[in-house]
Amino acid sequence: MLRPTRGCYDAAGSSQLKSILNYIDGQFVRGKREFVDVNPANGSVIAQVTEADQSLVDMAVGAARKALRCDWGRLGVRDRSALLHKVAAEIEARFDQFVAAEVADTGKPIALASRLDVPRAAANFRVFADLIKTAGLDSFQTETPDGKGALNYAVRKPLGVVGIITPWNLPLLLLTWKVAPALACGNTVVVKPSEETPATATLLAESMAAAGIPAGVYNVVHGFGPNSAGEFLTQHPDVNAVTFTGESQTGAAIMKTVAASVKPVSFELGGKNAAIVFADCDFEEAVNGISDAAFLNTGQVCLCAERVYVERAIYDKFVEALKRKVESLAVGSPLEESTDLGPLISAQHREKVLSYYKLAREEGATVVAGGGVPQFRNELDKGFFVQPTIYTGLAESARCVKEEIFGPVCHLAPFDTEEEAVSMANDTKYGLAASIWTTNLKRGHRIAQQMNVGISWVNCWFLRDLRTPFGGVGLSGIGREGGMHSLNFYSELNNICIRL
Ligand code: NAD
Repeated sequence: MLRPTRGCYDAAGSSQLKSILNYIDGQFVRGKREFVDVNPANGSVIAQVTEADQSLVDMAVGAARKALRCDWGRLGVRDRSALLHKVAAEIEARFDQFVAAEVADTGKPIALASRLDVPRAAANFRVFADLIKTAGLDSFQTETPDGKGALNYAVRKPLGVVGIITPWNLPLLLLTWKVAPALACGNTVVVKPSEETPATATLLAESMAAAGIPAGVYNVVHGFGPNSAGEFLTQHPDVNAVTFTGESQTGAAIMKTVAASVKPVSFELGGKNAAIVFADCDFEEAVNGISDAAFLNTGQVCLCAERVYVERAIYDKFVEALKRKVESLAVGSPLEESTDLGPLISAQHREKVLSYYKLAREEGATVVAGGGVPQFRNELDKGFFVQPTIYTGLAESARCVKEEIFGPVCHLAPFDTEEEAVSMANDTKYGLAASIWTTNLKRGHRIAQQMNVGISWVNCWFLRDLRTPFGGVGLSGIGREGGMHSLNFYSELNNICIRL
């Protein structure tokens, strides 16, 4: 039976997380079935998560529709913006709770969650709260044959109910990246966080309520993809648009589901990103930059560089320096401030990554660093750790060079000319990001403009200004979010033409 409760963690008075609930129409709601939320650092069960079946997804979408017609739909931009700033303040006020929940769910180092995930969640609300207040629209004076003319101007309207489906690698950061602009534009949302990381989306519900966001504006349904909350949400006739971050194959499945009702989609998908390191780079900066680009968040960032091309003149020296750097990375408990790499997200994902480690050897790779599973001789051995790994010697056609692994692993290969580097970097079905390392600014611009990707970085990686366009080409996605691109996706423009 459905039972509303007061807190997102229904733990019978205990401060321990016991049960993670759906959030519908301002209430925490239990479903009929549960699944477990596992701490990837030691394999222990953190919480039982209550799954939303079709009827709960219907309730969530219904609540979101109702909220569109009443409180939220009637609010002006200034009031909406003020409420979104309050949500940011509520996230900041519960900073430690968000960090703890994100670390427990993902196994990411506490230092990373504190530096990146939680601050970015608050920043996502602040940026879009400000942007919506100043977002102007085109207007045109149009000539007509009779000389009287016409005036065209556009007004921005919400899409309606937006279905938001997100992955496990940066759970709160990626969820709020979509929730904030969707709400800023006056939509209501139903979010389906990853089944691996349900906690922070649920905690966010408490922050929304505390900030005064009306019931029904932000709803959370938990579950899986096919035949579960994910699919129930994307195929729902009352959902007006779907925004999704995750694997390319999942994007293809969602595209099929939404095709029947021709919903707008925004897809941020996988990557097999390249880095190009020229001999004239700042050597130390490039080694540190590539180490971050390949291994941050245990390689589980869509933007991670799994292919690194290094100019032959510095290739051997670079391989050696990166090996030393990688061997100095601390792999271990996410709760230690000094930890660089936590575990992978799940036993299943570790199996996938280790199958690529095996495949790389079968495909003829030389193992420069790592290639296996670390031993801790404590409870971390029950976690889903792998060693950060560097390979060389693979053919460009090898599966390990072509397919997204999504673990702490990169392959290094030498190049001789700019043309060769560009051609190897672009030889992929993906097209999310690239990084170029050179002190020759003209070359930096020249190469960056030739990359078939959505984001090219020169002498940096993952440096984000939230106003800039973000997205990919090919298998890496459809559309751009960020700044005005988000506002334009999350709104319908109605052009009004007045004959003068
Ligand atoms: P995933 O595609 O397996 O799952 C993502 C979400 O989709 C989950 O919430 C899942 O339950 C849901 N889902 C799965 N099948 C579905 C279906 N048929 N209908 C509706 N929902 C469904 O991805 P993941 O393993 O959680 O995340 C890793 C992937 O995400 C990697 O490929 C990574 O590159 C990509 N990613 C991309 C970006 C980006 O911005 N481009 C950012 C982060 C992650």
